[in-house]
Amino acid sequence: MENALTATDLSKVYGRKQFRALDGCSVNVPVGVIYGLIGPNGAGKTTLLRVVCGLQRPSGGGYSLWGVPHDGKNIGPVRRRLGAVIEAPALDPHMTARENLRRQYRILGLPDEGDIPDLLAFAGLGDTGKKKARDFSLGMRQRLGIAMALAGGPDLLLLDEPLNGLDPQGVIDVREMILRLRAERRMTVLISSHNLGELEKIATHYGFLEKGRTVREITAAELEKSGERRLRVTVSDVNILARALYARGIDYRVLSGNEAAVYGAVTPVELSAILAKEGCEILSLEESGETLESYYVNLMGGEKHA
Ligand code: ATP
Repeated sequence: MENALTATDLSKVYGRKQFRALDGCSVNVPVGVIYGLIGPNGAGKTTLLRVVCGLQRPSGGGYSLWGVPHDGKNIGPVRRRLGAVIEAPALDPHMTARENLRRQYRILGLPDEGDIPDLLAFAGLGDTGKKKARDFSLGMRQRLGIAMALAGGPDLLLLDEPLNGLDPQGVIDVREMILRLRAERRMTVLISSHNLGELEKIATHYGFLEKGRTVREITAAELEKSGERRLRVTVSDVNILARALYARGIDYRVLSGNEAAVYGAVTPVELSAILAKEGCEILSLEESGETLESYYVNLMGGEKHA
């Protein structure tokens, strides 16, 4: 699959102290995916997005956009295929949603060709009328920022912490918007986020960053497979369970007098059927497996970041 973005051993050094905000950062973002960029504070996520947007020059290594090297002579037109919301959305609080979008088209030197009503509707801001952006909720501002980044119809959208500070409805709205960008507009989206639970609901690929370096890249499907899925059951007789599962070659671990963890591909329905046959009653059953958060904690070995 072609990559929208490939970064190879990217470094970014700041100031006299030669602080390395990026130090061996490599990411591969295939066309059409939602890529979640994950890392603790200061890992270099924003710096990576700023470098990729062309706001800052890399100090070493390089990146390419749809195969065009960042220092190649054709990079200019390719950059126009990027849209971004980095740090806060660049909107004017004294303007309405429509005026902000018009201004964005003007800044980019683009004719709006009637796109603005569509973009407003897409962002769920079609009926905000004369309301100024300063009176918008955080979620509305975030959606307006994304709509502005969509001016000109980019193919790759870079979003820096788009869910930060949003209330639950705001999170749902932005999440839906991102999913629709991929499904309806076939866009590639690169999102940095601390909100692992939310990211897990939308991302198809992940890149883990620590101290400016890529620790690992993994797809959502690989993540799903990587962890041991398990069923935790409380039963009337754990000995019956042990015998029944042993006889069928299903992995399990007895946790207490009436609790066990059952590993592998066995589903709750299959387990219920097996145990019912043996006369063992299930008192409770809970399914768990590798979550993005547990993967992150294992990989980075650190505290949890919600
Ligand atoms: P956060 O989640 O807190 O936003 P981040 O992963 O986005 O973190 P960056 O903002 O990219 O991290 O910052 C990476 C490191 O680079 C930080 O230690 C930051 O202090 C440092 N840094 C960023 N910009 C500059 C700059 N202009 N001059 C010096 N250091 C900088």
